Amino acid sequence: MQKVRVRFAPSPTGALHIGGVRTALYNYLFARQHGGQLIFRIEDTDSARFVPGAEEYILEAFRWLGIQFDEGVSFGGDHGPYRQSERRDIYKVYVQQLLDAGRAYIAFDTPEQLNAKREQVPNFQYDASTRMQMCNSLTLGPDETQRRVAEGQPYVVRFLIEPGQDVHVADIIRGDVCINSSILDDKVLWKSADQLPTYHLANIVDDHLMEVTHVIRGEEWLPSAPLHVLLYRAFGWEDTMPRFAHLPLLLKPDGKGKLSKRDGDRLGFPVFPLEWHDPKTGEVSHGYREDGYLPEAVINFLALLGWNPGGDQEILSMQDLIEKFDLTKCSKSGARFDYVKGQWFNREYLLQKPDEEWAPALVHLLGQQGIEATQQQAAEVVRMMKMKVIEYDTKEGKKKRNISFISDLWPLCRFFFVAPAQFDREDKFVKKNWKPETAADMREMAQLLGGVTDWSIQGLKDAVDPWVEATGKKPWNAWRVCLVGEGQGPDMNELAVFLGKDETLRRMEFAIQTLG
Ligand code: GLU
Repeated sequence: MQKVRVRFAPSPTGALHIGGVRTALYNYLFARQHGGQLIFRIEDTDSARFVPGAEEYILEAFRWLGIQFDEGVSFGGDHGPYRQSERRDIYKVYVQQLLDAGRAYIAFDTPEQLNAKREQVPNFQYDASTRMQMCNSLTLGPDETQRRVAEGQPYVVRFLIEPGQDVHVADIIRGDVCINSSILDDKVLWKSADQLPTYHLANIVDDHLMEVTHVIRGEEWLPSAPLHVLLYRAFGWEDTMPRFAHLPLLLKPDGKGKLSKRDGDRLGFPVFPLEWHDPKTGEVSHGYREDGYLPEAVINFLALLGWNPGGDQEILSMQDLIEKFDLTKCSKSGARFDYVKGQWFNREYLLQKPDEEWAPALVHLLGQQGIEATQQQAAEVVRMMKMKVIEYDTKEGKKKRNISFISDLWPLCRFFFVAPAQFDREDKFVKKNWKPETAADMREMAQLLGGVTDWSIQGLKDAVDPWVEATGKKPWNAWRVCLVGEGQGPDMNELAVFLGKDETLRRMEFAIQTLG
């Protein structure tokens, strides 16, 4: 059996859209599942749309996401070069082949002439019905064409489409897609001005030479597919024509139509994998990485946009996805971009992560608030808060803490680093737990704590528990008012150990003074 070879072939025209990431992911899953190869090809034949930095951006995004390529730009391989702008000589040979076989022709029409024609003929299309009225090798004859080319007149090579034939595209997701060739125009395949092919020709020649077996790409390329099939035929490559799979569009989270960057700006979610600094406009766009998403969460979320393995397991690792992925089960209709679900995935992955792995990000976040914390302190805070979050989550009826991002921790864990500066006497928890006699109780407790030499959970228990038992007092909530300022936070002994003796006593003293 033929070895699976697929490719992801972006044009370096800017940041990679999240839909492109999903396309690359599906190619990756398919390749891995079949023990095949994934190629990274850069389609940069449209120099007017080239954006510096885009190629590096795309590569970095895939490094971050853990999508690995086997061959291609920056990876090497024996089907290179993999950047189309470096393959000029190759395309020239194939354009000539089509010209020699009478499957393509040379056209000299200037942009002005074409515009004039468009104005004159409604719905003008350069095709069988009009090509004999135009300025090309078919109307000028070989000698005049030769003369003009030799003279250096700019020209393009157009594909000669024979009208009236049914063209079938066998699509793995959509089944047989059939159109009539009469609706197609004689597409430009090559331009003398920059000695470069257009997308269509370069794409087909490269897929053929790179021995691509499956073309998995976005639905927006479906209209080009019949033309591509005709090109394969014109070259006599039908036997090795790749199989097509056109993936469902990503749709707006709300309303109609396809997902756009504006939806992200409007609703507050990124549409790019990494932050993007547009070199032309200077505009900075959000990225999943910088917004605090974990790559595993992004992968899991994207994989299920347009496909699902059935059943109700939603948390799937890359390995699970590789095993379960099934192109034939992709949906034909568009997939709504449920970004809230993306946040949910992030939360699930975040909660699974070991505390130490949260620490660097939390240290960074605290640093932005002017708080210096060690990695160990940060990991401790995460441990205490995470326990709390999971507890809230599992205890039915309790309000959920919405930690979807590490940055959500800051408002919840502020009190670990910043002492209460004032108390809200109207707060339910404070009101309920700070009575006229409480200050005296807290003073007594502070005295006990002041004598503790072993400032550990056990040490604190040994000092306070006998007093609690003997007096029947319940100091915990009032103590929480002192240390936290409100009715939240972790186990009190744990918190006191984290704060240390001095800080614990200082906060108690302040509460006693302030609340009286
Ligand atoms: N260069 C095209 C793009 O930017 C590739 C389309 C295809 O995969 O054929 O998406």
